[in-house]
Amino acid sequence: MGAIAVTEPGAGSDVAGIITRADDGGDAYIINGSKMYITNGTQADWVCLLARTTPGTGYKGMSLIMVPTDTPGFIVSKKLHKLGNHSSDTAVLTFDDMRVPKTNCIGVEGMGFYMQMEQFQRERLVGAVSATAGMERALRRTIDYLRERQAFGMPLIHNQWIHFKLCELLTEIEALRQLNYYTASLMAQDETSLEVVKLASMCKLKAGRLAREVGDTCLQFHGGMGYMEETPISRYFRDARLLSIGGGADEVMLGIIAKLEDMLPPRRKE
Ligand SMILES: Cc1cc2nc3c(=O)[nH]c(=O)nc-3n(C[C@H](O)[C@H](O)[C@H](O)COP(=O)(O)OP(=O)(O)OC[C@H]3O[C@@H](n4cnc5c(N)ncnc54)[C@H](O)[C@@H]3O)c2cc1C
Repeated sequence: MGAIAVTEPGAGSDVAGIITRADDGGDAYIINGSKMYITNGTQADWVCLLARTTPGTGYKGMSLIMVPTDTPGFIVSKKLHKLGNHSSDTAVLTFDDMRVPKTNCIGVEGMGFYMQMEQFQRERLVGAVSATAGMERALRRTIDYLRERQAFGMPLIHNQWIHFKLCELLTEIEALRQLNYYTASLMAQDETSLEVVKLASMCKLKAGRLAREVGDTCLQFHGGMGYMEETPISRYFRDARLLSIGGGADEVMLGIIAKLEDMLPPRRKE
């Protein structure tokens, strides 16, 4: 099992702010630093690490390095306790004079930031696709529940407010699914096109927001039962919250879309 290690205690949304260093040690890198919120961090056999191979700041001089986790100096500092997604582990990792062969550098040294950004496009689209399936499942479970649950002498689903709201959400989910399919079809033709970057960011943004709305609405329509641990919707409500943060927060997606729509001021000089 592997892990992707980009985020640091001092740099999450702003990936250009990472400070983990991979210094020149002859035929090896000497790696020092720390990574935060790393999924699979406690059990990974290898970590795909973004680190600075050239001193400095900004986007330049970063590389992606494959790090076997049995390398001396690799430390799982802490297993983190999360609001949701309890079936996956998330950890703080520390690297203390970790010596990794330079042959473990992926692609061209110094191009790590750009390769990482490409990986994020795939991760964001895959995240949106799997979230779409999850939100439809949560909604259909809720529809089944509301067909059975009686109040005021009739099944709850017979309330117009309730079935209208459910149908609105089904429509939004279907619209997101089609956006996902369209983006995937363009990505299959050219993964690096700016249109794909923009659309994948839109898929991720919409998925995060819609998952929150679906989770909140489904929990509400379950009433007290929705607040109980035994009901799958309470787990969905917790788990779905991550989508607007992990893999790039909603605001970061909005920033990418704004940039590709040419709405931003000129970039600061590095
Ligand atoms: C459960 C979990 C698993 C994760 N797994 C991994 C992993 O495997 N590997 C990995 O590298 N990282 C992982 N992450 C980290 C995740 O990618 C970051 O948490 C995320 O990118 C946000 O960074 P941050 O937490 O440092 O938030 P910050 O950068 O501190 O931002 C905080 C908030 O500020 C707002 N914000 C940020 N920038 C802007 C802006 N420009 N304009 C307006 N508002 C803004 C957003 O609302 C954001 O949520 C994981 C996180 C969690 C919670």
